[in-house]
Amino acid sequence: MADVLVIGAGPAGLAAARAARTQGALVTLLDAADDVGGQYWRHLPDNRSSERERVLHHGWAAFTELRRALDRDDHCRVLRSAQVWAIEETDAARRKEAPPAQQASEGELRRTTVHILVGPADGAARERLTLKPDAIVVATGAHDRTLPFPGWELPGVFTAGAAQALAKGERVAVGERVVVAGAGPFLLPVAASLVQTGSAVVGVYEASRSRTLASGWLPRPWLLARAGKKGVELAGYVVRQVRHRIPYRTGTAVVRAHGTDRVTAVTIASVDEQWRPVRGTERRVAADAVCVSHAFTPRLELALAAGCELDDAGFVAVDADQRTSVRDVYAAGEITGIGGVELALAEGTIAGHCAAGGSATDDVLRRPLRARSIYQEFAQRMHAAHSVRPGWTGWLTDDTVVCRCEEVNCGALRAAAAATESSSLRSLKLSTRAGLGICQGRICGRTVEKLLADAGPHGRLRDDARFDRRPIAFPLRLGELATDDQ
Ligand SMILES: Cc1cc2nc3c(=O)[nH]c(=O)nc-3n(C[C@H](O)[C@H](O)[C@H](O)COP(=O)(O)OP(=O)(O)OC[C@H]3O[C@@H](n4cnc5c(N)ncnc54)[C@H](O)[C@@H]3O)c2cc1C
Repeated sequence: MADVLVIGAGPAGLAAARAARTQGALVTLLDAADDVGGQYWRHLPDNRSSERERVLHHGWAAFTELRRALDRDDHCRVLRSAQVWAIEETDAARRKEAPPAQQASEGELRRTTVHILVGPADGAARERLTLKPDAIVVATGAHDRTLPFPGWELPGVFTAGAAQALAKGERVAVGERVVVAGAGPFLLPVAASLVQTGSAVVGVYEASRSRTLASGWLPRPWLLARAGKKGVELAGYVVRQVRHRIPYRTGTAVVRAHGTDRVTAVTIASVDEQWRPVRGTERRVAADAVCVSHAFTPRLELALAAGCELDDAGFVAVDADQRTSVRDVYAAGEITGIGGVELALAEGTIAGHCAAGGSATDDVLRRPLRARSIYQEFAQRMHAAHSVRPGWTGWLTDDTVVCRCEEVNCGALRAAAAATESSSLRSLKLSTRAGLGICQGRICGRTVEKLLADAGPHGRLRDDARFDRRPIAFPLRLGELATDDQ
């Protein structure tokens, strides 16, 4: 019986675990969070559970059924509060493109080592676990990306994902008068969650202009109609938006937050098609919280540590079986491209099935394969309509903080890049400390990369350094590192 490790128990990981079990594998499914569900089905802990979860989440019944089935399955071990802190690729010959003579033998395939800590993230006595599975499905998801603007370091400015996590996972409202801004359909569920926790949402401000939205979403509408589930979900949010009289403005961005010890207002401005602020359109809006999300950043550190190659868009490259460039390492969900829950479920099912010895040509995968193709097309539309345009750097000033952990501002980054005539990320990090703080560049990394690339002669980075290459994915204590393997 193959033994399959699934890292991440969001929609993609849950679907992968179930499919691998159906295919007869022994499965370990783990997640760093204290329960399974990922970002989409984030919910109150069991000891404070709520009847309202099914109102707050789409597909709640399907999720609880899936969770119950996996929890009761003797051949599926579900580890909660289990964080993978490192993956060691011990045999480069495992790459599937290597000639057979160089590929590892059956025994050697088991050498990819996964290091895990089990226990509450801030607990003192976490258990250390080391696994060497036959196959791995990496389903570590994404976190939301916020573009910096003057004042974004003030208390009261949240990533939209953090505000939603507080609303869904803790029922905490981030403010009384809240502005939601950024880009993408994700802004609508965030506004809905805020309203459900008692906040008044002053407005939802989408940076893409109506024409860009139309050219992304409207072509070949019959193809869009196939993604009917998404349409129903979206319609629900729009109804709520109208019922609560929340204005929705396109071609508009938050370009500054005001306040001394916390946010008291924001300046919004019209932006052009490239998201350059249009002078003279600024308007001040009073708010005690602002939730901003412009895109999603895949959580790539484990996939990169395992040796997986990325595609041109910076996501994990996979084939039809969801197999990565590394033998027996599969990937599914947001780390292979941002596409929403249905795509994550379809990809997870295919990855789990193939990781357990099946193939994408198997009859049993007909439905997930169709769903994958429908929702990949949906994802392309979303990308065309809402992806980050380069003109946003027009709202930065020299004193705009970019790296909040190390308090490095935009002027310092640009000056360091200009002084050294360098577009090397490594040297910029060392000379300014940007991205070397507690979040290790998770928040500012893409922005630092962009500013540096813009400063270079060819508009791109000179070295292959990236913020998500981290041999140790998460901080751990020296004592934990020194503990004997289990
Ligand atoms: C903050 C946020 C909020 C969102 N809210 C909505 C919404 O309201 N509506 C909507 O339609 N879509 C929403 N999305 C998008 C939606 O959540 C995704 O489409 C879907 O959840 C993707 O599923 P996934 O399994 O790929 O990733 P996720 O659901 O993100 O699951 C990944 C899991 O991997 C775990 N993980 C990561 N690294 C490790 C590690 N090293 N060790 C152990 N576990 C690890 C994480 O804890 C997480 O549970 C949201 C996305 C984000 C980032």
